[in-house]
Amino acid sequence: MSDRRGFFASLKSLALGAEKEESPFLPLLPGFIPNSANGCNECTTSACKTICPEAIVIREGVHAPYLDFSRRGCTFCGECSVACESDCFVAEPVNALNAEVRIGILSCLAWNKTICRSCADVCNDKAIQFTGLWNPEINLDACTACGFCIGVCPAYTITVHPIKEVK
Ligand code: SF4
Ligand code: SF4
Ligand code: SF4
Repeated sequence: MSDRRGFFASLKSLALGAEKEESPFLPLLPGFIPNSANGCNECTTSACKTICPEAIVIREGVHAPYLDFSRRGCTFCGECSVACESDCFVAEPVNALNAEVRIGILSCLAWNKTICRSCADVCNDKAIQFTGLWNPEINLDACTACGFCIGVCPAYTITVHPIKEVK
């Protein structure tokens, strides 16, 4: 990622971190087809939830199953897709979520001059890059939105959002 892009990504995180969203974004499972929700509603096995090795699949009420990144992330192993008997997933392998992960730099320990690298340490994609000691930024080109950095952040300041244009 260029320095210029990192700079603007930081500004965007700052602006969006300060913005209150009305309801939390619940990321769907990788490859889940939103229009398949009716078939999903009929499912009585919750096979996607049962089989997930990371135990991050939540299925409750009539909402489509979604991912809980509070402790673990998604490895994109595809097991939920294979286990589903209701054709709720695309056939092709999926290696990233259609979502954007952001660091809220107002609360980030490092951005506030306390040494912390917890997020970068768990990121297998090396998508969190520090400028010096204090300025972690997410390289949006490398980030898969796997969510592993979210649960390890001691400041609870990494969040996942739908991808949207910022005006
Ligand atoms: S791809 Fe694997 S880790 Fe991710 S939600 Fe599905 S079963 Fe869990
Ligand atoms: S920065 Fe992106 S790729 Fe790295 S751990 Fe966080 S969500 Fe996953
Ligand atoms: S883990 Fe959280 S507090 Fe620590 S550097 Fe990353 S975003 Fe900042």
